[in-house]
Amino acid sequence: MREPDPKPFDPVVSPLFVNAIHEELRRYDGERMGEERACPNCGSGASRKNGYQNERKTVARLVTADGPEQVGVEVQQYQCTDCGRSFQGDLSELFYEGCAYAKPVVDLCRFHAADQSASGCERTLRRQYGLLVTRETIARYHDRFDEPPEPYTIDIGGYDYSLPFLSFLFSPDDDGDPHFVIQRSTAIW
Ligand SMILES: [Zn+2]
Repeated sequence: MREPDPKPFDPVVSPLFVNAIHEELRRYDGERMGEERACPNCGSGASRKNGYQNERKTVARLVTADGPEQVGVEVQQYQCTDCGRSFQGDLSELFYEGCAYAKPVVDLCRFHAADQSASGCERTLRRQYGLLVTRETIARYHDRFDEPPEPYTIDIGGYDYSLPFLSFLFSPDDDGDPHFVIQRSTAIW
């Protein structure tokens, strides 16, 4: 007997809109990231590139009609030529330290968790954006930051959407740099 799919693709707005969100996020898939930085062990600035991490770092998990889909970036590894430690390049452009998803997704969780329960927020992310984030992760993001999330809301099909998130995705600047989010997240740090 077939198991029921626990994460159906059941958007509350046009699936075309959700697919457009997915398409913008997929642009990150396989992108190479990780600027050179000082060795976290000894502080030395002398290092050499040391290949890419085996597993991609997750940007987002998409809920599609074909099931869950991971979007992830390739992470440049370095090896310190003084102490020998291997470490990841600088990912702060797109990721908060210690968060499983990219900044725009983390901020999106915080945006909706500000006035919803974590499980309500999980449902909102799935049905309005086609994104998969567990309620436990959402609750963690909600508790972690002191600054309130950007409150700007836009109505699409009668649903509240995060304006910063959509601006991040659909900004006409297509150089691939998440400049919009970077400018705003400086306020958080
Ligand atoms: Zn070192």
